[in-house]
Amino acid sequence: MFPCNYLSENKTLSEGLPLIYEKLYLIYGPQDWWPGDSKLEIIIGAILTQAVSWSNVEMAIDNLKGQNLIDINKLHKIDKNRLAKLIKPSGYYNMKAKKLKSFIDVVVNEYNSNLDDFGKGKREQKRKELLEIYGIGPETADSILLYAYQKPVFVIDTYTKRIFSRINYIEKDISYENLQSLIEDNIETKQELFNEYHALLVNLAKDYCLKSSPFCDQCPLNKHYEEEKDDYC
Ligand code: SF4
Repeated sequence: MFPCNYLSENKTLSEGLPLIYEKLYLIYGPQDWWPGDSKLEIIIGAILTQAVSWSNVEMAIDNLKGQNLIDINKLHKIDKNRLAKLIKPSGYYNMKAKKLKSFIDVVVNEYNSNLDDFGKGKREQKRKELLEIYGIGPETADSILLYAYQKPVFVIDTYTKRIFSRINYIEKDISYENLQSLIEDNIETKQELFNEYHALLVNLAKDYCLKSSPFCDQCPLNKHYEEEKDDYC
């Protein structure tokens, strides 16, 4: 039993989701995700962040910026091995260079290098198209749709699963798509809300809901947080 179980015991998911959001927003405020100066930079970040911390991704992006390479056509032309060296801090750099190149190839060859055109169309159609690109999985595809193209898609990650399974709203082994549908069916469909909510859950998981030994005593979703928060601050 976790002290956040009172949520699932007393509230349906459609009641609990807004409440959790309110609590987290109150603590953390707006997160203004995703970090990035341009659509391309956001997409590069979404691809590079797989299985690595954001600080490493930042180093890789800084290397690309240092070479003036946040540019579709330049990334299309650059040799894959050179690209791999530049993004080395993001880990799995040979594979990630191939993934980046695969995405860039599609935009250059099928959309005349126009990233805006790539994003036009219905969410499901775009998602399918992204998932067909080498190395783009559901989480990366959805991050690109939500953060680069402002489409209302709820991004699922290990943090989302961990938090909602500990609250007892879901089974630990629920599939990506099932959890996504469950959340989207029980909350207002709004891109800004999905954007903030995902970022807030990431914060909660990193600050309190750790994989092992979570800091439940201080967690804003703890049943007793409201009563005792003065002691925590
Ligand atoms: S850290 Fe918070 S959300 Fe995670 S299990 Fe504990 S009380 Fe629940």
